Amino acid sequence: MANTIPVLEIFGPTIQGEGMVVGRKTMFVRTAGCDYSCSWCDSAFTWDGSAKNDIRQLTAEQIWMELKEIGGECFDHVTISGGNPALIKAIGSLVELLHSHGVKAALETQGSRYQDWFLKIDDLTISPKPPSSLMKTNFSVLDDIIETLIKEKRMEHISIKVVVFNDEDFEYAASVHERYPEVPFFVQVGNEDLTTIDNASLTQELLKKYEWLIDKAVAAKNMNDVRVLPQVHALVWGNKRGV
Ligand code: SF4
Repeated sequence: MANTIPVLEIFGPTIQGEGMVVGRKTMFVRTAGCDYSCSWCDSAFTWDGSAKNDIRQLTAEQIWMELKEIGGECFDHVTISGGNPALIKAIGSLVELLHSHGVKAALETQGSRYQDWFLKIDDLTISPKPPSSLMKTNFSVLDDIIETLIKEKRMEHISIKVVVFNDEDFEYAASVHERYPEVPFFVQVGNEDLTTIDNASLTQELLKKYEWLIDKAVAAKNMNDVRVLPQVHALVWGNKRGV
């Protein structure tokens, strides 16, 4: 199984709703498994066992064929998401295959594990989790990852993103930004209501939180070089999966 990837979803084309390439047209490959269990995880089905029967062990070639079958000629960018795809060594072969077809690869991970293939990702988002997640960042691992990426001159290909739910999270975000000041930095509103199907009230709530986060960033002298984002896909599609 070492050269296969546990896949839960392949979908698109759609747009990237978060982080450094927000708005970018992309396909998504969602992998199974995570070493965290964040209290507000919006992809808990990737690790809580509820979708274990949907996991498929696929080779890079099989993933590529499915991407082409679904996306046809209408994509040149693939986002690999999870769970935590950094747990999977075989992602490296998928990234190489995508590149061989002229397709760019983006990936998001919380930064708890390093893989050599990080150096090949075109848009790598490291998203350490704030206190509201109830997870604890291992800063010695994260320091090593960021140091390696800087040493390997990957600055144009990486960013750090922290999802913020409350004041404590904002303080955490500021401390992460201060720790790695040279890395492009994003804060993003968290979605507290992962079950509602009332999109109109969810949108209103998310926009209210977005304004709150903008106000916090604007007033913080240690957050001058920061970008403040909503979760665009949640504003457009609410909690719908596979969009
Ligand atoms: S790291 Fe991401 S996928 Fe894993 S539990 Fe946290 S939010 Fe969910």
